Formats: sequence, structure tokens, C-alpha cells
Amino acid sequence: MESEAAIEHIKAVVGSRGWIADARETEPYLVEARGLYRGATRLVVRPASTAEVAAVVQICAEAKLPIVPQGGNTGLVGGGVPPEDGHNIVLALGRMNRIRALDPVNFTMTVEAGCILADLQQAAAEADRLFPLSLGAEGSCQIGGNLSTNAGGIAVLRYGNTRELTLGLEVVLADGRVWDGLRGLRKDNTGYDLKQLFVGGEGTLGIITAAIVKLFPKPRAVETAFLGLGRIEDAMSLFAQARTATADQLTAFELIPRAGLDLARRHIPGTVDPLDAPHPWYLLLEMSSSEAESGIRGLLERLLGAALEEGLVADGVIAESGAQAKELWRIREAIVEAQLYSGSIKHDVAVPVSRVAEFITRASEAVCERLPGIRPIAFGHVGDGNIHFNLTQPEGMDKAAYLARWQEFNDIVHGVVRELHGSISAEHGVGMMKRDEITHYKAPIEIELMRRIKNALDPANIMNPGKVVNP
Ligand code: ZN
Repeated sequence: MESEAAIEHIKAVVGSRGWIADARETEPYLVEARGLYRGATRLVVRPASTAEVAAVVQICAEAKLPIVPQGGNTGLVGGGVPPEDGHNIVLALGRMNRIRALDPVNFTMTVEAGCILADLQQAAAEADRLFPLSLGAEGSCQIGGNLSTNAGGIAVLRYGNTRELTLGLEVVLADGRVWDGLRGLRKDNTGYDLKQLFVGGEGTLGIITAAIVKLFPKPRAVETAFLGLGRIEDAMSLFAQARTATADQLTAFELIPRAGLDLARRHIPGTVDPLDAPHPWYLLLEMSSSEAESGIRGLLERLLGAALEEGLVADGVIAESGAQAKELWRIREAIVEAQLYSGSIKHDVAVPVSRVAEFITRASEAVCERLPGIRPIAFGHVGDGNIHFNLTQPEGMDKAAYLARWQEFNDIVHGVVRELHGSISAEHGVGMMKRDEITHYKAPIEIELMRRIKNALDPANIMNPGKVVNP
């Protein structure tokens, strides 16, 4: 089938509400949030059901027309952006936004790919349950995208990343057939775990249309603390103590550097410094329990008292109200926003938790030696080993000249990651940005296995081509 005929056929299948061709309206589907990628497309298709997705994919398979699946388009590695040649359709899942079922006894929820993450958190809360996936883009990202990119976020330490929250999937395969793998089982040892190929597959193997995700007891007591420290090594010692002493009630452990707080205070109005004196490092720590009279407040106070006495922590506050806790979390968010105001070279890396301090020290030394005045902003989810190691440009340096050195600094930082047996993409995925780079950091046999899986499931290479792995 000619691709022109295929486009007309797709339009007929999804109806007038199911497609967009107008240049102004398709624009948001073509650009990546940070502006690093821009693509082009024949048509943005917005199917309303799994059957429509399947019909569209079948047409594309026959016409060999590439498909770029897209959720909320909040990704950071160009995974959801169409190729520049425009010979593709973007398949946006936003209209498939129903919660099909919520099972409070099984502690599961069956959701369609286009559900907004924050809406799922809300639905779980209304059923007296917790859906713990939580990240900066939660107000606009969609669960299908979260699944396809195996999103991480701030609660991975306690609840695992998206992969670990997934019990079942419904997937439209590259030939248009539907795999109904919507099983809400905690135990299912019946061969290869196929769903895990699609989680983190970034739409290169098939299109996730629905999922069964895990729910948890809803927290009834939450305590939040903001601590100032002198040494990064002490942060990780405190982590081990906190995790040991709190019976797995430690739900977040976020690192913030002084340079990040300074940047946030300069650019983001209303950012507070909760402590009297400056400290080189800060930790935002959260404990929670599903039991209202859990005693976690006392536990946290004793933990901090001991850490102060031992000299691990220099100063700290525990939020006295929900509003104050929000204010502390606001600091963490402001650090991300503040980095938009100057050139920032990004890294999203993971190392074993026991090597976080070593990574930050070594990588910081290496980049400062290469470019004196560069400002490492090492922050993030260090309780699960994930560091957002971003490098803000030296004061007064030309932004474009600085950003032109992106790859040079990636090489330095990722070199340290490799030596510490880490990953060059902890939670943002591969997309276009790291597709070629991962081939230098994964064993050839791993890349070969990935290619064989890609070729087996998508022999015509129509599913999000050019992302994750080249066939
Ligand atoms: Zn993150």
C-alpha cells in the first residue's frame, strides 16, 4: 500500500477526532521539552481504544510506515520525538485515559496508557491506596510513557521503579496483533517475563496500551527533614544508618548541593534556605508509615540526634506541618528549574549506593580540572544510587561555546561511571541521545542481544526506529 493511501486509511479508522494534520496543532508533538530535538511527521494519530491502535499499526505494518508512540512528551532523551525526515506517524495515546479497574484487595489498578500520572496517584488515594510512582513531570506525563521509559523518580528507594511496579501489560505488537498480558499476579513463573521487554523498551518493540500496576497501603504519617552536612561521604553514611534504623520506612533520600541551592535562590523567587548557616551539602529525607500512630517522628528525631552528636550532620530541621514539608520539597524542584537559566550539561547516572560519594568526588574533580569555574550540581535520588550530575557553565562564559563541549564532558563523567560499574542512563532512558553512546558502555554481547530482540519483535523496523538500538 502506498503511504498516502495508508494515511487516508488511518484517518478513516480513527475518525475525525482521532488525527491532527494542521501544522500549528501538531507542533507540540514534534519537539522535545528541552528543545534539543525537533522532528517532522505525516500525521499525529490519537486513537481512542486498543482496537484502534491495533488497526493503525496493522495499516502501518503493511505500508512499512514508521510509528512514533508518544505519551505526555515529557521525555529528556528524544525518545518520543519523530525523525526529521517526516516519513512516519506520531501515535499519541492521550485519549486512552480510562482507569479500567481498581482492585483494593489485590492492591492493583488497571490503567490505560494515556492516563496522566497525577490522576492515577489521585485515584489510588481516593481508594485509600498509594500509587507510589512520583516524578517532576507527574502533572503531564502519561503512564504509558512512564512504563515505556521505566521512569524512576523520588520513591524508588522504597517502592522500586516503574518496572517493579508493573504486574501486567496489554501491548499492540509491530504487526498489529494485541497481546493481552493483563495479569495481576505477584507470582507467575511460566517462562520468559515478556512484559519486561516492553517496560523500558521506549516503544521500539510494541505499543503499551494498558497495564496492571501495583498499589500500596496509603501513608498516614509522613515526616520530612532538611539537613545540612559538611561532607558527601557523611551523607551516604547517614543513609545506611537511616535505612537500617527505620524498618524500611525511609521513602526518600535526596541530595542537594549548596551550589544548587544558591542557583535556586538566585533564580526562583520564594526559595528559602531553612538553615541558619550555609553547608556544602543538604539532604531531603522523608519517612512514611501507613500507621497513623507509627512513632516515626520519634524515630526520626532520635536518628538525627545521634547523627548530630556523631558529627555526620551539622544542622537540620524537621517539618512541623504539611505546608512546611511542601516548602522543603519546593527547594528540590527549584533546583531543577534554576538550571534553565544558564548553560547546563546533563548526566543522569547510577552507581552502587555505596559508591555515590566516590563518584561525586571523582567526577567533580575531573570536570573542574578540565574547565576551571565549571559548577557541578550533583543532586538527586542518591538513596537509590541515581545522581543527576549536571554541570552549570562557568560565570560569564558564552553559553553556546559551553554547550558545544557537551560530548567532551559526557565522556569524562561517563568514564568515571564506567570505572565504578555504573549506568550512563539511570532513569531517563536511551532515546536518540544515548543510542550510540550506550554501545561504548555495554558489552558487545548485550548490544547484540538487544538487536536480536528488536529484529525478532519488529523485523520491519517500524516501531520507533532510530531509538534505543540500531537494528
Ligand atoms: Zn530524577
